[in-house]
Amino acid sequence: MNPAIQQKPSGNQVGAGEHRKRIAIFGSTGSIGTQALDVIEANSDKFVVTILTAHSNHQLLIEQALKFRPYAVVIVDETKYNATRQALSSAGIQVMAGEQALEDAAALDKYDMMLAAIVGFAGLKPTLKAIENGRSIALANKETLVVAGDIVMQRAVEKRTPVIPVDSEHSAIFQCLVGETRNRIEKIVLTASGGPFLGKKPNYLVNVKREHALQHPNWNMGAKISIDSATLMNKGLEMIEAKWLFNLKPEQIQVVIHPQSIIHSMVQFEDGSLKAQMGLPDMKLPIQYAMAFPQRIPNAFPRFDFSKSAQLSFEPPDIKTFRNLGIAMEALYKGGNLPAVLNAANEISVFGFLRNRIGFLDMTEVIERTMQKIPFIAKPTLEEYFESDAEARNFAASLLNL
Ligand code: NDP
Ligand code: MG
Repeated sequence: MNPAIQQKPSGNQVGAGEHRKRIAIFGSTGSIGTQALDVIEANSDKFVVTILTAHSNHQLLIEQALKFRPYAVVIVDETKYNATRQALSSAGIQVMAGEQALEDAAALDKYDMMLAAIVGFAGLKPTLKAIENGRSIALANKETLVVAGDIVMQRAVEKRTPVIPVDSEHSAIFQCLVGETRNRIEKIVLTASGGPFLGKKPNYLVNVKREHALQHPNWNMGAKISIDSATLMNKGLEMIEAKWLFNLKPEQIQVVIHPQSIIHSMVQFEDGSLKAQMGLPDMKLPIQYAMAFPQRIPNAFPRFDFSKSAQLSFEPPDIKTFRNLGIAMEALYKGGNLPAVLNAANEISVFGFLRNRIGFLDMTEVIERTMQKIPFIAKPTLEEYFESDAEARNFAASLLNL
């Protein structure tokens, strides 16, 4: 049973005449979600939270809801429904539960912008629902575009719904493109820190453990993207994300390793001029930019200091060692359902690695074998994307004996 929408809506703090942007944070208990709440708290004259969602961390969700007083919350894990409802119903906050409740919440008219900050494939359906609902999207959940980027962006265009990137590289490119609508992009350059194992070779990687892989040098992120950063899969997913966000051909997307993470990415125009967006690595900046766009709002985040930074360096990625980036590029070039298959197999292999079921280098093998196994579809429908995801997940899980 889906206990969603069991209570009569009440206690919505957003009254008539509300001038603040109403934000729905899908994935509010995660790394991006909690940082977004910090940004909102610091700018309570501009933003108000109206929907919060979590998968199973109901304690943090309750804490957030009691502080920010949204109209509704979603807890996906239905075993946490009663505890969440008991804690929030007296505060007049609607509590919804179950997977379907994410889409039901996305269909509400109680928000202006969705911050899509759920991790993985699970973020796709609610984001599509928000687009159908004509809400603007601040997109952190890159997997949404990796799986079904053509359909998502086409629907966004039909609905005239802005999709504003939160991923720091894509935010950088988006910022570089402001004022350049008539100018053609020659190429974009996505920067990558290289992750915790930059410079290492397979004989080292074969023995690395989850604790080691979760330690990112520059960014403090959720577990899945931290592993993706360590394997460089994250950069491959970002190439596919960039293709759809900026309507690029695969050959227009280049990756460069830039260990300091100060240049967040660059655009090269037809005259050869390169524009870069720079700053200290702090996700609050792209989150704030996406929520406030087209405005820039002041903040007290630490500033980059040229006198203290010794150097900015660049090198090509080592795709012989970090083969996940190579296979993601293959999916980018071949297109069709291959990126969806890549993404599903990657989610399963990261899950397996985080539970110490497989080694660091085994992840590539699981993904490669899954990509070879699942039949290629050149122009999938949305249903076919979902089917490819399910088939790939099942096959990859069978390889791991999950
Ligand atoms: P986290 O793992 O920290 O948070 C994920 C959020 O999604 C949590 O709120 C979690 O709830 C919820 N969630 C997890 N699984 C499901 C599910 N099956 N259904 C519904 N909700 C679910 O991830 P991050 O914040 O690091 O990343 C979020 C997204 O943003 C990812 O797509 C990532 O690639 C992207 N991104 C993240 C960056 C970062 O710095 N963290 C940078 C750029 C992009 P619960 O807490 O209850 O498990
Ligand atoms: Mg990124």
